[in-house]
Amino acid sequence: MRVTVWNEFRHEKSNPVVSGIYPDGIHGAIAAGLSENGIAGVTTATLDEPEQGLSAKRLAETDVLVWWGHRHHDEVSDALAAAVCERVNAGMGLVVLHSGHFSKVFKRLMGTPCTLRWRAEGELERLWVVDPAHPVAAGIPPFFELEREEMYGEPFEVPPPDELVFLSWFKGGEAFRSGCGYRRGRGRIFYFRPGHETFPTYHDATIRKVIANAVRWAAPVVLEAEPFQNRRIMPPLEPI
Ligand code: ZN
Repeated sequence: MRVTVWNEFRHEKSNPVVSGIYPDGIHGAIAAGLSENGIAGVTTATLDEPEQGLSAKRLAETDVLVWWGHRHHDEVSDALAAAVCERVNAGMGLVVLHSGHFSKVFKRLMGTPCTLRWRAEGELERLWVVDPAHPVAAGIPPFFELEREEMYGEPFEVPPPDELVFLSWFKGGEAFRSGCGYRRGRGRIFYFRPGHETFPTYHDATIRKVIANAVRWAAPVVLEAEPFQNRRIMPPLEPI
């Protein structure tokens, strides 16, 4: 399995708090967590690299793409966003993390505003497993906690998830659908909420296991080589 972890990689360059928590970048911590959980073939890509880190070749060689973005969603080119969505439709897995809910890619695939309520005070988050038999919940306890996280609250303006795996509760009182699975075309998408840049969430062992489970779940079953718009007219099998 070829996994690419894509990160905006800007907070780490401008905010010493973030670079202190993530000296190798958020992408570096996520990639390390995947390797730690037995996933080989993990590489990283970032916004400021040539072709925004995702050339056509790179995308064609990616089975599962992990996406972290926040402040600079608008800088991702429309052409790249379209190419990623097309690749998902062809079967590539996509794991969207935290503020990636507002990325061009996720919004296009959902077709809804993807807005939510938020508060970045750093409060306790308790995540409940609501579907213990789901592959993304494999080996995860009935609930687990993050001592300090940003709050995301409902209503989360996404289509009803095809599969709901986690539900979050926050100390301030809100609840949120924090682990949502979707099918689009041949591809699978998993949205996982935690991961605000000023908290050490991607160093947490349980969070790392969930992301690894999500990558495995999202791995392609079939991956179409030919774009959908190039489908040919079907000749009849029998004379008509
Ligand atoms: Zn955040």
